[in-house]
Amino acid sequence: MIHFVGAGPGAEDLITLRGAELLKKADVIIYAGSLVNPGLLGYAREGCRIYNSAEMTLEEVIQVMKEAEAGGLDTVRLHTGDASLYGAIREQMDLLDELQIPYDDTPGVSSFSGAAAALQAEYTLPGVSQSVVITRMAGRTPVPEKENLASFASHGSTMVIFLSTGLLEEVSRQLIAGGRSADEPAAIVYKATWPDEKVVHCTVGTLAEAAARESITKTALILVGGFLGDTYDRSKLYDPSFTTEFREGVK
Ligand code: SAH
Repeated sequence: MIHFVGAGPGAEDLITLRGAELLKKADVIIYAGSLVNPGLLGYAREGCRIYNSAEMTLEEVIQVMKEAEAGGLDTVRLHTGDASLYGAIREQMDLLDELQIPYDDTPGVSSFSGAAAALQAEYTLPGVSQSVVITRMAGRTPVPEKENLASFASHGSTMVIFLSTGLLEEVSRQLIAGGRSADEPAAIVYKATWPDEKVVHCTVGTLAEAAARESITKTALILVGGFLGDTYDRSKLYDPSFTTEFREGVK
């Protein structure tokens, strides 16, 4: 059996209990060494075989899984954050289906949640934005044209931009082209939840400058939106005059 497991954003204790149990029992672990905290391998039992997928192709990863399966071994495929975002799990699952190798998937805490915690922020503030756009700039991996950053920016919603730390001038240009103001609050969170985490507050217009000042070139998220500002409405749910299924509002 192959277990896809989300490792969480970095801190070793931000993997789920289920994920940690699977790691402890695994005979083989294939981990995404470019981003997964190697400290998580401390959960592995003596004699567990460990592979770093950063140095492997898809075919090599599948080959290791295939051999483990033939030997009746349990494999954990450990992906950073939650594997459903930029995790390249679908192509693995499709090949496993072809080989009739069973698998399951354990979710993880994505880095976008880690970044919100680092910022002590709420992405969905009433009166500010009730939507979060998770996206990236096109780089060596293309992004479908209809999903260009400027078009998403035009909604005015909270934005979480992955995989784009090397392209910050273009990120600013596209955000502004989409109608966001150069003065709108933005932030860069580097290695959210790792011991060397950095949180940098800036504006849409100063993203590149702020990253350069802090020498941040990778492993960061760009956050944009009014949720980083000071004005918002109170929630209805906890308003004394609001009646819910569980509480009678005061008139
Ligand atoms: N599946 C992962 C994302 C993998 S793509 C998740 O759910 O978080 C890799 C990108 O994620 C990085 O380029 C960076 O933009 C972001 N990232 C991953 N871990 C991060 C962290 N701890 N802090 C900030 N950004 C992170």
